[in-house]
Amino acid sequence: MSYYRNIPYNMRTRLGPRSARPAGRSGCIRYVLAFAVAAIAIISYLGSKTFNPVTGEEQYINISREQEIALGVQAAPEMAAQYGGLEPDPQIQGIVNQIGDNIVGNSAARQSEYPFQFYALADNQTVNAFALPGGQVFITDALLGLLENQDQLAGVLGHEIGHVIARHAAEQIAKQQLTEGLTGAVVLATYDPNDPSTQRTAQVAMLIGQLINLKYGREDELEADHLGVCLMAQAGYDPNQMINVMQILDAASQGMRPPEFLSTHPDPGNRVGEIQNSIQNLESCPQ
Ligand SMILES: [Zn+2]
Repeated sequence: MSYYRNIPYNMRTRLGPRSARPAGRSGCIRYVLAFAVAAIAIISYLGSKTFNPVTGEEQYINISREQEIALGVQAAPEMAAQYGGLEPDPQIQGIVNQIGDNIVGNSAARQSEYPFQFYALADNQTVNAFALPGGQVFITDALLGLLENQDQLAGVLGHEIGHVIARHAAEQIAKQQLTEGLTGAVVLATYDPNDPSTQRTAQVAMLIGQLINLKYGREDELEADHLGVCLMAQAGYDPNQMINVMQILDAASQGMRPPEFLSTHPDPGNRVGEIQNSIQNLESCPQ
């Protein structure tokens, strides 16, 4: 017996060939709604233009600094867990903290007023460093093990601090919302970092999932390199060591297990020239 015969007539037409679909008023309304949703997504994206006083740039961002900080703090434990948790040696943790704090306290990053926190992660296989919005910065033991001096560590941390002060994650969120229509905008419109009852929704969990797997574009990476050079130099570290960091990563990429840093960051070979450029033009750095 055919199931088809038991399906009500209006369902049958929907299952039928495309030409059999009634092109009536409901189709028209759907198009109008789809257009309205798309228009609102575009208008809200374009309406989210924000001036970043640290980088001096206009950017499209539709979450507040407080929301960025709250999302970063909420995502931090999950991020750490993916890389074996925190490095247990307090001395290693201390060095990462000290250099991170030194950069923030003595560079243009200070004006951003994000509550930066720096963590060494226990993972000694995955070569990576990353930042969550609002100032949570991480570096794995595996990458720490490749670095030769504190200036190189300052270069890596400076790059990640650069992502935070340039608000790259928040920009990515705005772009994702534009492409996904309004789903995310509704979530964020109702997400109040001061009210815990709004924080545990499935949508916020989804957003945190996106943050953890976030990959920045090439332009963002080059800007983070530039800012990293600026910030480390302002804090008294040798910016030329940033070039050595790129060479170290490049050499590590020949090995059995290429640095994950390179899959989340573009080819370091192409970045060295831009970094040299930044080093020669330190006067163009944000002050
Ligand atoms: Zn980066």
